[in-house]
Amino acid sequence: MKQTPDFDKIQENMRAGSITGPGFLGHDERNLVDIISDDQAKVKELGLTNEIIANKLEMFMKQGERGFGSPVKVDDRFVVIVEESRGYIPCPFRHGHLSKKANINVRNIARKEEVDYSPISIHLIREHGFYQGKGSPYRLDPAKVARILELI
Ligand SMILES: [Zn+2]
Repeated sequence: MKQTPDFDKIQENMRAGSITGPGFLGHDERNLVDIISDDQAKVKELGLTNEIIANKLEMFMKQGERGFGSPVKVDDRFVVIVEESRGYIPCPFRHGHLSKKANINVRNIARKEEVDYSPISIHLIREHGFYQGKGSPYRLDPAKVARILELI
């Protein structure tokens, strides 16, 4: 797919040190449109949608928030820890959206696997179908997320 100049600007915003220290792209050299369309193909293959994945991530965040930084057990199969920080992160797609800063950790007890994300990750998936570039500390590989959160 062809990348528009608008997307070039957004991609610049996503680089390390621009909005956040680590940025959103990791070491991924692909164009933003290709990062998004490759992950969309994966999501479709899994029989899921961005909405389903984002809703599940949000549900865990909401459950975890009740612990105020302490671990919260969800459905006897997951442990969630939400650590909030001060401040907000602007969406790199530059439409005025702000997300709270927080780290959400969900551990699947039986699988002994865990995933970390933040409120902006949920927004990026739901609104933009963007799971972040390869090597980004907050990249949420769709297949990995689906497995750990038991969406498939
Ligand atoms: Zn946005």
